[in-house]
Amino acid sequence: MCGDSTAGDPPANPDPADEHGPVSCPACGAANEIPAAAPPVGHRLVCSACGAALVETIADANGAAPDVLWRLFRYVDRATINPVCPHCQQRNYALCVPANDRWGWHVHADADSVDNGDRALAATCCHCNGEFFVEWDLEALI
Ligand SMILES: [Zn+2]
Ligand SMILES: [Zn+2]
Repeated sequence: MCGDSTAGDPPANPDPADEHGPVSCPACGAANEIPAAAPPVGHRLVCSACGAALVETIADANGAAPDVLWRLFRYVDRATINPVCPHCQQRNYALCVPANDRWGWHVHADADSVDNGDRALAATCCHCNGEFFVEWDLEALI
């Protein structure tokens, strides 16, 4: 299933300044603990119970804009993208990337097709478990 990244592990030391607390899944209503600060690149902001994107209701097909992640979760320098898996053609929602890397990317089915590994991110499809690669056209992925 899709919701494997943050399954049921609340932070050991919750930040007292944390304003968002648990996030209710827009699809199933389950309460999800999410990182208090900007998650690492490649983290997926999905429900640990059903796998739906936690930003689904306000994200368009291209993902959530940086201002949305700031408003919802107080995340700095993050956006999300929703790449389509090249193996099974299903969408993987809410993959975290740096804010400036929201646009200008494409997907490869295998590592040999990646032109420059420094600006590519490996991902595992939550539907078929296939590995694929998101590569940015110009900017290096930080
Ligand atoms: Zn859910
Ligand atoms: Zn797939």
